[in-house]
Amino acid sequence: MNFEEFVAKPLLAREGIAIPRSEVVTTASEAIQASARLGEVVIKAQVPAGKRGKSGGVKVATDPKTVAKISAQMLEMTIEGHSVKRLLIEERVDISIELYAAVITDTHSKGPLMLFSTQGGIDIEQAAATDAISLRRMPVDIRTGFELSQAIELLDDLSLQGAKPAVADVLVKLYRVWRSQDAELLEINPLAVTNSGKVVALDCKFTLDDLSKPRNSDLAMLGTPDKFTALEEQAHNLGLTFIELNGNIGIIANGAGLTMTTMDAIKHYGGDPANFMEIGGQSYTKAIPAIDIVISNPNVKALVVNFCGAFARTDIMTEGVINAWEKLKPKIPIFFSIHGTGSKVAIPMVRNRLGFEPFETMDDAVKAAILATR
Ligand code: GDP
Ligand code: MN
Repeated sequence: MNFEEFVAKPLLAREGIAIPRSEVVTTASEAIQASARLGEVVIKAQVPAGKRGKSGGVKVATDPKTVAKISAQMLEMTIEGHSVKRLLIEERVDISIELYAAVITDTHSKGPLMLFSTQGGIDIEQAAATDAISLRRMPVDIRTGFELSQAIELLDDLSLQGAKPAVADVLVKLYRVWRSQDAELLEINPLAVTNSGKVVALDCKFTLDDLSKPRNSDLAMLGTPDKFTALEEQAHNLGLTFIELNGNIGIIANGAGLTMTTMDAIKHYGGDPANFMEIGGQSYTKAIPAIDIVISNPNVKALVVNFCGAFARTDIMTEGVINAWEKLKPKIPIFFSIHGTGSKVAIPMVRNRLGFEPFETMDDAVKAAILATR
């Protein structure tokens, strides 16, 4: 779950990282009042999107008239599909250098990874992908944590205009926030060194580990709710686990692992999955709405049904799918792979009622489906 800047930054401040004084407002007149207390301000649109700066969602204002004008304009804006409802009115900081600091959850080292760059303020992901910047990385052993000595090592030969000790201190605190707030990602971009040598977090991106929601329920209420497509919403309300993707091969499988394996197989053989639909045992009662949802996307040109039974019975699941298929009569081909408990009943059931054979293996079913879409 993602959090907007005005929620994320105070988490940094609680651990002792400096952030500018600020107020959240919803109208231009509130913005003027806030700026009267703060002086020269930066007006920042609060939307769950990055690169607000480039979209005109971050602007400096030095007098009340400009504050009013910019605030009114910003409250009319839509940034990356999000209409701007709140502004953060923030005391303006004189930036000398803009740094980048983050803790991410790294799949390679299977733990937290500290990231640091002296080229903050820009789109780091994009720059790092093209090697346009130097990004320092340091994996952290979650059992021992991240200490000052490691922060100093990470900053190594940099001088940072004399602010190195203060930056190292911020890195240690950043890791502490990451750990205590169950973050998946915590990023300060830019981390500014001011003209007077202070180190201030000007922006913060925070993603909470969804598994920690039960013990962070108060915080989770302040997060940005997941955005569902209309079809996902419909599936969600029916209790189906469904995610829309961009491809043209629909998938129905039992178990999240098998569903993902099927997606991987489709990709592996050069196809493109259209969805993730895990219904398992619910196929018996929910196959009609499930299939209806999958095929109502006009891009879907073929359906792969992959069942693997252990405790779950493939004959029960298959019967549900066949009943639905006979009722809905979709105009696209369907490709079965059925293994495990109940397959001796399920396989002849497909043969007798639908008039074709399930495939020997998942790979064969997937390859045939890909062929059918070409
Ligand atoms: P983002 O574009 O959504 O990441 O928004 P940021 O909060 O990172 O702001 C974008 C840029 O605006 C920063 O990289 C800074 O260059 C600039 N900026 C933000 N706050 C201040 C500030 O207090 N003073 C000054 N001078 N510039 C700021
Ligand atoms: Mn930023």
